Amino acid sequence: SKLVSGLTKTRDNIISGIDSVFNGFSNIDEEFYEELEEILIMGDLGVETTENILDELKAKVKENHIKEPKDCKELLLESIKNQMSLSEDAYDFEDKRTVILVIGVNGVGKTTTIGKLSSQFKEKGKKVILAAADTFRAAATEQLKEWANRAGVDIISGSEGADPGSIVFDAVAAAKARNADILICDTAGRLHNKKNLMDELGKLNKIINREFEGVNRETFVVLDATTGQNALMQAKEFNEVADVTGVILTKMDGTAKGGIAIAIESELEIPVKYIGVGEGINDLQRFDPETFVSALFA
Ligand code: GDP
Repeated sequence: SKLVSGLTKTRDNIISGIDSVFNGFSNIDEEFYEELEEILIMGDLGVETTENILDELKAKVKENHIKEPKDCKELLLESIKNQMSLSEDAYDFEDKRTVILVIGVNGVGKTTTIGKLSSQFKEKGKKVILAAADTFRAAATEQLKEWANRAGVDIISGSEGADPGSIVFDAVAAAKARNADILICDTAGRLHNKKNLMDELGKLNKIINREFEGVNRETFVVLDATTGQNALMQAKEFNEVADVTGVILTKMDGTAKGGIAIAIESELEIPVKYIGVGEGINDLQRFDPETFVSALFA
């Protein structure tokens, strides 16, 4: 599947490492755990998450009186899965009337991801409207229009430098008038000035709350998985200034550091909702820990 092929690099990195540890030891000892630790950290699961995984594994090994590495491989997978906190109802918003604010630094794949999301929702029979409220970056609106075209959804935009608030106001009005199911707002959500970002998101949130009473709300941060631990740091910083409800990790196909998905869920307790596995419109997958770990170990 696309998911399995999209994770090839991560799989080769983490899994071949794990396999070699499992094949290289006939007994479970301190050195065995140390090598596992090194592999997990190299796969960008992060120090904290790796410790948690190994603590859980050690406890289970002890509890079950396991002596040989081969008998604890399943337990390792289980411990990895247990680090991920995504709840069962993570995608309920897709069936509610929802406004999604999308934030992320330049170049992470924010525009592409909004295009992919629009297409996916549309294929599920949802009426989608986009708001081109990233008026800060020159080409952002044009680029988003192209994606709206490709996905076959409506877009509300203004001129370059227009007030994002007025675009979101117009988009909410359009969403109500056209009975849209999902309104996705591309915002200039950037990090170089936290106060500005907080103010801007605050303004947009206020408009949505006032004009679209009772609508379900989501705020997604788009992060580039190829940046590894840096993506985790960005997620932390965004989470400090915005009420982040989900992470979208792009470019998982281009990285051996896909373990960052596990670190984000484990350390920040923010669900990774989708992962990007290519540049095409269909290259966005829901993120499910079970499937993810299975794809890694496929
Ligand atoms: P933005 O500046 O955050 O809006 O980023 P763009 O949406 O313009 O994307 C930046 C680059 O990343 C483009 O070349 C995209 O094709 C590429 N990109 C986005 N998502 C993915 C992905 O999941 N996989 C790969 N391989 N490339 C991606």
